[in-house]
Amino acid sequence: MQDLLEDIAARALGAEDRGKVADYIPELAKVDPDQFAISVSTADGQLFSAGDARTPFSIQSISKVFVLALALGQVGEALWRRVGREPSGQSFDSILLLEREKGIPRNPFINAGALVTTDTFLGSASPREALGALIRFVRAASDQDDIHINEAVAKSELETAHRNFALAHYMRSHGNLLNNPDLVLGTYCHQCAIEMTCEQLALAGRFLLDTAGAPSLVSRERKRRINALMMTCGHYDGSGDFAFRVGLPGKSGVGGGILVIAPGRGSVAVWSPGLNSYGNSKLGTEAMEIFARETGWSIFG
Ligand code: GLN
Repeated sequence: MQDLLEDIAARALGAEDRGKVADYIPELAKVDPDQFAISVSTADGQLFSAGDARTPFSIQSISKVFVLALALGQVGEALWRRVGREPSGQSFDSILLLEREKGIPRNPFINAGALVTTDTFLGSASPREALGALIRFVRAASDQDDIHINEAVAKSELETAHRNFALAHYMRSHGNLLNNPDLVLGTYCHQCAIEMTCEQLALAGRFLLDTAGAPSLVSRERKRRINALMMTCGHYDGSGDFAFRVGLPGKSGVGGGILVIAPGRGSVAVWSPGLNSYGNSKLGTEAMEIFARETGWSIFG
């Protein structure tokens, strides 16, 4: 495993086309694109890493996985009255289908759906309380204490979150946002600004493994369902492509991270800031394609 990760990291470092770093969040535009890391936490508790695996990065939309787990914990199946479970085939920040579908977003991983899960998780708590519970959950999942929110990234996103505000206000007009959009957006931008290293993220992903020794923060049935949603919706309009190339449930973020679950085998985190046209890590996707091929860990064999 260590040799494979070193080989993948060496290939990534030599890559010419690294994709394009997200710049619609000004603070993310400052990130050095020449970075790459991959970490694997195996079901039996071993941790393997290569590259910049101890450099913290902005997890962005990967936070949607943790918040979904927490929102389901709060309201259970009732969540599915407010958000769907189908891939959207649209970009992560699209508003297109919301009008046709009366303010019910297609799934919890596109931005509109994530705003609903954040609103649900927020409930009647304050953003500070909700974010505190979220950080505790991520720390418990990874068994790591040194995980924090980057305030500068949160502020930078909040100041430029016009499209997400539009989604929130649109859903509110349909009664599908219970809290004030300002509160929801404040919480959402802070959850996206959580910083983790690749090692920490691979460890945190263990909460979605259904193996002996994995944290039991959510039920087995919920693990299975969250994995299914990651498989079908975790990469937005690139979800089919990721399934085709990698064959594992994954969730990407515009910070360039991807969390991938190999059921029964382990949790993998990969990070490279440059993105492809879907807004998913370009080298991260390529690395996972090699990883799945070499390990045979694809759920399709
Ligand atoms: N915070 C980002 C946004 O809402 C997250 C998007 C992403 O990572 N795909 O635009």
